[in-house]
Amino acid sequence: MTKAAVVLSEELWQTGHGESHPLKPERLQRAYELLTAYQAFDGQQSQLVPPRLATRDELLLFHTDEYVDAVQSLSRGERTYTPSQYNFGPGDNPVFEGMYEIAAWKVGAALQATKLVIGGERDVAFSLAGGMHHAAAGHASGFCIFNDAAVLIHYMLAQGLKVAYVDIDVHHGDGVQDAFYDTDRVLTVSVHESGRFIFPGTGFMRETGSGVGRGYAVNLPLAPFTDDEVYLWAFEQVVPPLLTWFAADVVVTQLGIDTHFLDPLGHLTLTTQGYAQIVRVIKGLAPRWVALGGGGYEVSVMPRAWTLAYGIMADREWPDDLPSSYAKKYGAGTLHDHNQPQVEASTRDIARRHAGKVVSELRERIPVLRQ
Ligand SMILES: [Zn+2]
Repeated sequence: MTKAAVVLSEELWQTGHGESHPLKPERLQRAYELLTAYQAFDGQQSQLVPPRLATRDELLLFHTDEYVDAVQSLSRGERTYTPSQYNFGPGDNPVFEGMYEIAAWKVGAALQATKLVIGGERDVAFSLAGGMHHAAAGHASGFCIFNDAAVLIHYMLAQGLKVAYVDIDVHHGDGVQDAFYDTDRVLTVSVHESGRFIFPGTGFMRETGSGVGRGYAVNLPLAPFTDDEVYLWAFEQVVPPLLTWFAADVVVTQLGIDTHFLDPLGHLTLTTQGYAQIVRVIKGLAPRWVALGGGGYEVSVMPRAWTLAYGIMADREWPDDLPSSYAKKYGAGTLHDHNQPQVEASTRDIARRHAGKVVSELRERIPVLRQ
């Protein structure tokens, strides 16, 4: 029986980027409420573990001194640093009071999950507030202030572990890829909507790593309107053979659900069923697994998708009707989608052909995919 944990507490939804920003703290609160309404934590096989604030030294495992100072100072409302030098400003990455603490809580939560897994206490730990995969060592990007994934992978490398990172957010996991671009001790695999159509405009097949890291960054860019069937086919062709070949000590995943057909930011058309199937495939490949959240901007979708994902991690199944306490607050509904995306056959065909082309090109470049 898998021993699983969720690392989450209300500290993680106390502050946010502001009213009109898509990364709403309420997402996390709803996911927490849904998991507890399903009585997901029995204390034995499935635990809810409180996070902690990351220390400055932990942030420095990846981030620069200057950036950590700048975030702390800007977070206090001081004017010592110029926000735009660190990519803060109106839009995606606003400066807000308390942003240092909230970002450091997210890193602390991810490190808590990491320690549970590498210490052998849990087979899998899920930090829902994590997956801030765009942040760079010295600047913010794409709603991300500190990159919890990059920090925890550095932490594991320092313990001598080999790490595979799989990112299924609709956006390319550029910050994590860049952080480990020149090492062969971290394999990064990102499956995302092509950078030709969406932020951050990277994640092409030609990005494969550099120096000894060549071949240890893999990108699977998909066309808009890619659906469950095409996504799963492409994923199965690429991710399982790579993970089997690399034989990591620990698998880290970024489980963004902005691939969903109702998501306002992406253009893929996955359902919760397709998403759950991807998570099932990952579970089969990841005996030691640190799972992080990520994007997912439709508040009626993300709590359901991450509850389903955690059910798979913890070998639990929940009734499809949302629990009455949750339904009373947020409206009745079901855990799984019962609606399907409406996409024209010709559009689906374009997405299918695109995926076929990408997979065959990856097979030409990566020998392990041909076996
Ligand atoms: Zn995203």
